Amino acid sequence: MVDIKNYHKQYYLKNTNKILQESKTYQQSKKGKITLRRYDQSEKGKIRTIRYTQSKKGRASQKRRRDMYRQTKKWKIAKAKRNRNFGWILMFPNPFATSEIVEYHHINDAYVIALPKDLHHQYMGKFHREKTMEIVKQIYLGDN
Ligand SMILES: [Zn+2]
Repeated sequence: MVDIKNYHKQYYLKNTNKILQESKTYQQSKKGKITLRRYDQSEKGKIRTIRYTQSKKGRASQKRRRDMYRQTKKWKIAKAKRNRNFGWILMFPNPFATSEIVEYHHINDAYVIALPKDLHHQYMGKFHREKTMEIVKQIYLGDN
């Protein structure tokens, strides 16, 4: 009797490179990409992705990608922007109760003021400072 399992194993071992190459070609084809995407979006695929990203191998691969990104000019510029030397001078004492989650918002590059987290996060993005200034005025200057 032919041992099917063993037969497949032997075939795989003998043709590993060929099989990997074929699967790679398929994954890069239009049909392969669609199948792969469908799988990634399925419950099974999502669980697999989570398992992979939490595994030793997955984490190593993420780290490798991160390290590679950190060699790029794009990363270095982003980092320089983050590290701009902002001052940290508290303009007014924090008026909020200790039960409030407070964040410190830079009204300019030197001065910060305390703002409740949800108000601080109300305007994010490009005009964060300008728009948040309206909230700051209302709270600190009673400007309605
Ligand atoms: Zn802010």
